[in-house]
Amino acid sequence: MMDILQLKDKNIVVMGVANERSIAWGIAKKLLEVGANVIFTYRKERSKGKIEKVLNDYQDYNTAVVECDVNSDESIAAAFQQIGEQFGVVHGIVHSVAFANAEDLHNRFVETTRDGYAFAQDTSAYSLIAVAKAALPYMTEGGSIVTMSYLGAERVLDGYNVMGVAKAALEASTRYLAADLGAKGIRVNAISAGAIRTLAAKGVPSFNTILHQIEEKSPLKRNITQEEVANMTMVMLSNLSSGVTGETIYVDSGYHIMG
Ligand code: NAD
Repeated sequence: MMDILQLKDKNIVVMGVANERSIAWGIAKKLLEVGANVIFTYRKERSKGKIEKVLNDYQDYNTAVVECDVNSDESIAAAFQQIGEQFGVVHGIVHSVAFANAEDLHNRFVETTRDGYAFAQDTSAYSLIAVAKAALPYMTEGGSIVTMSYLGAERVLDGYNVMGVAKAALEASTRYLAADLGAKGIRVNAISAGAIRTLAAKGVPSFNTILHQIEEKSPLKRNITQEEVANMTMVMLSNLSSGVTGETIYVDSGYHIMG
């Protein structure tokens, strides 16, 4: 079959695999299937162990597992230096990382603390800019950066609070980065994914209600899968989307179009 994706032997950094339920793991699996070299970054030792365990089934593939705490410039710089030394060129980045303090999701929005606000922004939005900056010296052949967003960026969703504001900043950062890096042939896009039961989703208090509402109201009358987000991410990483940048693409059963 003709290789329409052209991701074989490309070096793609996948940030945010905590376990097999992670959106990032669905993407990594597809990347490995098409012959890309996948560089996993993790924050916690526990995630490192889980990544190495699932990679047992992918012994013959070209992979690496690198520590990267996106709250730290030093950690990001060290990670990309290591990646650059080992792989030379970076062709793509999947930024699938977000975090907020639990109390900022549970409390009334008006109770959001200065620290909690800054922490959510730093981890979930600024991290995209910091990562793009650190990767830039190695993205010498152009490439594609894809981040994960959510409808809470534009609508008020129960229990999403400070994370909604962080996702709004993330989507705006996607546009500004796209404008800044476009001349270097680097595209930057966000995927606004529907609700998926993952570790991060456990922090959203009304998650079950959200899943139910999507089933009831979305055009497709069902929730989306990890694989569907992965498929769209493959398109956004590949040449198939070569004319698209600065965009937020919805993989949400069409939920966002409904009144
Ligand atoms: P997940 O918990 O599996 O992944 C979140 C990842 O962020 C984890 O791997 C965690 O280690 C990482 N992370 C948090 N703080 C970090 C830090 N300081 N440094 C490095 N990594 C850090 O959950 P997920 O649902 O796969 O989330 C991935 C992305 O998808 C997030 O941006 C999330 O907001 C977004 N998203 C999720 C849903 C959903 O319903 N699950 C919907 C839309 C968007």
